[in-house]
Amino acid sequence: MSKVKYYYDPDTLSYRKIEPKKSKRYRNLFFFLLGSALFGFLGLIILLNTSWVNTPKELSLDREVRNYELQFEILSKKMEQMEQVLANIEERDNNIYRLYFEANPIPEEQRRAGFGGVNRYKSLEGFNNSEIIINATQQLDIIQKQMVIQSKSLDEIAKLAEEKEKLLAAIPAIQPVRNEDLTRMASGYGWRSDPFTKARKMHRGMDFTAPRGTPIYATGDGVVVRADNRSSGYGKHIRIDHGYGYMSLYAHLSKYNVTKKQKVKRGDLIGFIGNTGRSQAPHLHYEVFKDKERINPINFYYGSLTAEEFENMLKFATQENQSLD
Ligand SMILES: [Zn+2]
Repeated sequence: MSKVKYYYDPDTLSYRKIEPKKSKRYRNLFFFLLGSALFGFLGLIILLNTSWVNTPKELSLDREVRNYELQFEILSKKMEQMEQVLANIEERDNNIYRLYFEANPIPEEQRRAGFGGVNRYKSLEGFNNSEIIINATQQLDIIQKQMVIQSKSLDEIAKLAEEKEKLLAAIPAIQPVRNEDLTRMASGYGWRSDPFTKARKMHRGMDFTAPRGTPIYATGDGVVVRADNRSSGYGKHIRIDHGYGYMSLYAHLSKYNVTKKQKVKRGDLIGFIGNTGRSQAPHLHYEVFKDKERINPINFYYGSLTAEEFENMLKFATQENQSLD
């Protein structure tokens, strides 16, 4: 309230009120309004900077952030599930597949290794939610790396499986003469009396007695490396190189059905039983080599014989009879 001012009027001999000029009144009003506005504005700024009052926009942002946090939590749970599935695959990989194919298991530290050196997550630091974002990113990076390692391991196993299949096809695993064609069970590997000298001699193969002309089959996949009679005692004979250190030899043939360098599959007809070379009667003398050493072929017939047939053959083959050489 402005002071009321008076002045003495000599004409009326009285004190009269000094009326403020209209323009001055407007000016006062303007300053009053300006002052109020500034005060109000300052108040608003103070209010906005305190945490207990939020604008609608802030409220909606807040809701959104909380929604993100929730989503991150859900993603994190899903990643945990993925990790569990991966861990299960890794376990089977190490304990079944790699074991079966005789590959070394991949150590846990190698599978689960993080990333050392520089901080890969620096750009994610310094925000309110940095921690959950960094954790999730880290988790994903590790899963990604685990998957790469797992995928490589499976590639390796696929290759090993293919090799194993080739190896299994190559090993001389069947009997070279059909069971029903045999007139007498085989004379086996071991000490036998020599048909010519009657002296005890190591017989390093198996004899399959059958009529002349009975078919002889390749016992594993391979390449014919010899089909000739230039090896003393064997007469007309065939040698098949199966790879992996395995070779099979078929002796005393009457006729060949293959030639040198020919590729053969297990079960292919390669020749016919005869009595050529150092042989007393028509029969097949069969040998198996591993790394150039002769081994007992009887250990390989799991491909073609029933358990009973194998038992029978074992019984006959281990009998100390006379070989036919
Ligand atoms: Zn023999």
